[in-house]
Amino acid sequence: MNVPEQTTNSYTADCKFGKIFAILHGGSFRNVTVGSIIALALPDGDMTDFSHRVEQVSISGIREVFEAAGEDAINLGLGQPDFPTPEHARQGAIDAIQAGKADGYTSNKGTETLREAISEKHTRDNDLDVDPEDIIATSGGSEALHLVMEAHVDAGEEVIFPDPGFVSYDALTHLAGGTPKPVPLRDDLTLDPATVEDAITEDTALFVVNSPANPTGAVQSPEDMREFARIADEHDVLCCSDEVYEHIVFEGEHRSPAEFGDNVVVVNACSKTYSMTGWRLGWVTGSTERVERMLRVHQYAQACASAPAQYAAEAALTGPQDPVDAMVTAFEERRDVVLDGFEDMGLDCPTPKGAFYAMPKVPDGWVDEVIDRGVVVVPGNAFGEHGEGYARISYATGMDELKEAIEIMDAATQAVR
Ligand code: PLP
Repeated sequence: MNVPEQTTNSYTADCKFGKIFAILHGGSFRNVTVGSIIALALPDGDMTDFSHRVEQVSISGIREVFEAAGEDAINLGLGQPDFPTPEHARQGAIDAIQAGKADGYTSNKGTETLREAISEKHTRDNDLDVDPEDIIATSGGSEALHLVMEAHVDAGEEVIFPDPGFVSYDALTHLAGGTPKPVPLRDDLTLDPATVEDAITEDTALFVVNSPANPTGAVQSPEDMREFARIADEHDVLCCSDEVYEHIVFEGEHRSPAEFGDNVVVVNACSKTYSMTGWRLGWVTGSTERVERMLRVHQYAQACASAPAQYAAEAALTGPQDPVDAMVTAFEERRDVVLDGFEDMGLDCPTPKGAFYAMPKVPDGWVDEVIDRGVVVVPGNAFGEHGEGYARISYATGMDELKEAIEIMDAATQAVR
């Protein structure tokens, strides 16, 4: 279960999930939001005890939805690969624990050997020269995104990000005291650099690029990435490139804006690439100055990433990469089955070129009908207002289940037409 996705959502999204929650519980909670449940539980006046920032975000009801969906439901809502962590990564942690190397704090930035492995990864995969000193190992990509926001966004400053986009961008902007500026996508669900450039004002602190993307599966072209780097340089606005799905690409290629300009910080993680979501190991890299500022946040909020996870990540990054290839091949086969299914149903779905999500356009009532029939999917507007009319389908589930879910979605489509 993807905790980051389930724990950070706006009030608007919670209204939607309040509705789904109600549907799954026979209607008794219809239109009751998590926010309003909290408000009812507290006596008048107590709400002032909480920061304005934290009142802007709320715990999403998606987890309850998943749990309420019951054991028989097929869950196409998950944001994590359904493969085991590679054996050599697990062994890396086991060896470190048995040797007594994982009992204490590591350096705040992470062990030197892990940061060297991350640096080598950037040379190997991105043709980038990254000094190990300019890397902070974090508790997943989630913490890395948090460090970027906390170190760069002042109260009232704007953060531009894709809509529909990963739910954390909105929530972390609020937590940093900033103002979210979600921007719509092209018809193929990629982010147009021109849209970002038009949205920049004198109050913009940074913009987020995410390719391959959650929730769309879209992959930005190398030309777009070059443009993002130019925009960051010319407008003196930081580009935060979230590359956690970097290796899960079926068509096109993954390129980082950091290849084309310096005003970029890169967020990455072992979570999706190595099916290590539970290990909580990511990283952030950027200029020495930026890393030094982010380290101030990391040092006080986290001290260091979990030591056993650091050793597992080092083994994952330096060991054989074929488990990644096998996973990507499986995802591509499933993507094709899902796309064929949507075509047969008559649903229009921009071809996802990476990650493990598809985002078809769906008729009114489709998401509720599909959930009622025992398949969990996420409504597109959970990822921003421009996600309205779409649904996110994660195909991080076995082929048999996926085929069964497609039959159910087909029947649901006919029922709501
Ligand atoms: N960025 C994107 C686009 C994601 O989808 C996720 C997780 O779903 C993350 C970052 C956070 O990943 P992690 O599990 O490493 O914290």
